[in-house]
Amino acid sequence: MPEGPEVEVIRRGLAQHLPGRRIIDLALGDKRLRQQSPAAELQRWALGHRIEKLSRRGKYLLLHLDQGATLLVHLGMSGRLLLFQAPAPPLPHAHIILHLDDGRELIFQDTRRFGQFLIYPPGVKPPPLAAVGLDPFSRRLTPDWLLELTQGHQRPIKNFLLDGRIMAGIGNIYACEILFAARIHPQTPVGLLSREDWQRVIKATRRILRAAIRLGGTTIADFKNSQGEIGNFHPQLKVYGHAGEPCPICGTPLARLVQAGRSSFFCPRCQPRPHKPQG
Ligand SMILES: [Zn+2]
Repeated sequence: MPEGPEVEVIRRGLAQHLPGRRIIDLALGDKRLRQQSPAAELQRWALGHRIEKLSRRGKYLLLHLDQGATLLVHLGMSGRLLLFQAPAPPLPHAHIILHLDDGRELIFQDTRRFGQFLIYPPGVKPPPLAAVGLDPFSRRLTPDWLLELTQGHQRPIKNFLLDGRIMAGIGNIYACEILFAARIHPQTPVGLLSREDWQRVIKATRRILRAAIRLGGTTIADFKNSQGEIGNFHPQLKVYGHAGEPCPICGTPLARLVQAGRSSFFCPRCQPRPHKPQG
């Protein structure tokens, strides 16, 4: 599943080609995505309009059109946004095809159809964005803010990091890597973390996400960028997918546990199980 860095890589790739392009035609596949605007809505607000810029909130990619409408795209589990010189090769599961005025086609392909492709008229803020938390690079994200937010809460830090309503765009792979870098056990209740712990979490988050974006994201399963290239962050993963292998810091075999249905990978020695402070 693409996480924030993968979506950012796609955004940067498309931002080199899409701004200034007009959408001159639109074709839809036979099957709809689970969340997809009706054809009439897409035609009404997108057809004939120019793409001005692309932005990202968490895992949402936003295409801002010249008259103020917004196309909101979420890749779901298996979605891909691909740019081809027309005529594009026939692709299975090509759900939405935007024909652009430079002779290219932007194709949303999604084998599992969990993706979202929604258009909002000018002046309408896409409602899904209301639930998107702080960008990990936001200056509002501070140890004090996190400390106050989590005081007295028992929720495990791993699940907290995965909650896109708090920090946006961190998925399972990066959450495991962040906790390893911050030396925090994934089951630690957030209320037990100190200001220094949160400082390490923020620093690790930013460092890891920045590196992942720089290296083109992580290719797990079938993530590819808009040019169909794979990401190169995968070899940088220190714990994710490495259960049983020696910890790169201390050599202890890495462990795996399941939290909220997702695998957590960690080093039992570098990330010791939390113990309650006295009192
Ligand atoms: Zn270790």
